[in-house]
Amino acid sequence: MPRRAPRRSAPVSKINLAPVRGESAPLRSLTILAQDPSVRRRRKILTTTAQVMAEPLMDGPCGARIKVVDYDASRDRLYLPMKGGYQQGDPWPDPFKQQSTPTLLGNPHFHQQNVYTIAMRTLGHFESALGRRANYGFGGHQLHIAPHAFAGANAYYQRENRCLSFGYFPGRGGQPVFTCLSHDVVAHEMTHALLDGLRPRYIDPSSPDQGGFHEGFADVVALLSVLSDAAIVGSVLTEQGLVRAKRTLVSPAQLTLDALKQSALLGLAEQVGASIPNGSASALRRSVTMKPSPRWLHDPEFEEPHRRGEILVAAVMNAFLAVWVARIQGLGPVLRGQYDGQRVVEEGVTAAQHLLTMCIRALDYAPSTDLQYVDYLSALLTADKETVPDDTKYRYRDVVRKTFGAWGIQPISRPESDGCWEPFGEQVSYRNLRFEALRANTDEAFRFLWENFTALRLARDAYTVVQAVRPIARVAPDGLIVRETVVDYLQILTVRGHELGALGLKRPEAIPTSREVRLYGGGVLVFDEFGRLKFSIGNNVANTRRQQARLDYLAREGFFEYRSDAEFSRGFFARLHLARARDRWAPGG
Ligand SMILES: [Zn+2]
Repeated sequence: MPRRAPRRSAPVSKINLAPVRGESAPLRSLTILAQDPSVRRRRKILTTTAQVMAEPLMDGPCGARIKVVDYDASRDRLYLPMKGGYQQGDPWPDPFKQQSTPTLLGNPHFHQQNVYTIAMRTLGHFESALGRRANYGFGGHQLHIAPHAFAGANAYYQRENRCLSFGYFPGRGGQPVFTCLSHDVVAHEMTHALLDGLRPRYIDPSSPDQGGFHEGFADVVALLSVLSDAAIVGSVLTEQGLVRAKRTLVSPAQLTLDALKQSALLGLAEQVGASIPNGSASALRRSVTMKPSPRWLHDPEFEEPHRRGEILVAAVMNAFLAVWVARIQGLGPVLRGQYDGQRVVEEGVTAAQHLLTMCIRALDYAPSTDLQYVDYLSALLTADKETVPDDTKYRYRDVVRKTFGAWGIQPISRPESDGCWEPFGEQVSYRNLRFEALRANTDEAFRFLWENFTALRLARDAYTVVQAVRPIARVAPDGLIVRETVVDYLQILTVRGHELGALGLKRPEAIPTSREVRLYGGGVLVFDEFGRLKFSIGNNVANTRRQQARLDYLAREGFFEYRSDAEFSRGFFARLHLARARDRWAPGG
């Protein structure tokens, strides 16, 4: 199938740096926990202030996209909701500003504010990176969040119930541990919901990589969100003795790759991971200490989704560390060979923000079905190159290729050159099309597919549907806007087990001859601002190598014991996170 890559072929226009998310949207500052409550500084928990959109709030809090519903199913108890409110020009005050640790930990209303605010902030990261509003995977506008949903060491996203559910459980000394108070856990679950909205087929059973991607990506977003917050990074580094106070001078010996891994991030991971069952911390701790090697990709243990996800986390977080170190070296010493501690923090925050944006934007350049890490790597490189053609200063793309390469992950497209997708080079027909309609209308986009089935190498006998059309305006770091339209389509071929041979596939024994089998293909078409097709990125339903690998994997995993794809997907994250918690608590796990 066509693969492509890019020069920034899209013409760009100068803008006034107005935020993509809305002209001068009023913001509201709300207190949240910066880290897990077990992370204390002089016995006080670490808090920070998050800025989120100031919107009218109903009791809950309940805004346009997040509705906190504090029902505890284990106790059949409904906690009173936090009061809403909004007056124009008089932003709702932060009711928990500078409150004591016992007040924050013990007040369910603070727990409600904490989940609302972290979820909104994660939504904000997605919307500013994607250059558009982000949608959920369940069709509605409001995601429900239950901060005290059940007694149990788990937390999960459920598409069918449109909700994030957070459990609580007894911790050390019998003190309750609330998963809704862990920044990483809340950001992780919110990322599942947002990724599901953008790429709904990624929870289909398909390959070890696709299974691991949801987990790894949710961890990456949670970790990079924390590292994008200067107040949190400053606090953690101070805690670690790396930066003592603002404007402290730091010795270069403390700022090597190994020193940063060992002192700052590993320390952070261990503290957070001490009590939370499925936070990102354990993944980071374990991933960073794992010696990178291509053999992991072929190790059966790493077919398990959360173990597989750790490879993605390790590759991205090692890229973050490498860029951070390079940026620190670029600063140069300020006095007697020492570095400015505050600038060290700022460089880390800038690197984290850049990588977080890159990781989220890459989703628009990733195939809509059967995602593999090699595809995601090409998507990452393309997403960055489209908005930052000149990467010579900090070489984010080189660093990312290197850290993924250490795990045996090479870009699937143009591995000998820049690793980006191949620009679409074939002739396509634009007759009978109106680009204005194509930017907004799935039927118009389907017409484009129809006119170009051959050029796009689509399977004619498969059911084909355009799932979404997304007009996009991405802001580059230099303030330019790159406008594109992304059309997301799916192809499904439904056959019986005995028909697989005719398609060039070998039927695994676990598939009865009469069993219905669905083969998926799909991709994205990326148009520039004048309606010309730039990229066609996808997995073809007729690609026998990938389809065979998928069938063999599903047979091994026992998928054919489920009656349907929908039955498998139901409760997917609850099962996955339970498995993760068990794995963490197993001796030596
Ligand atoms: Zn998860």
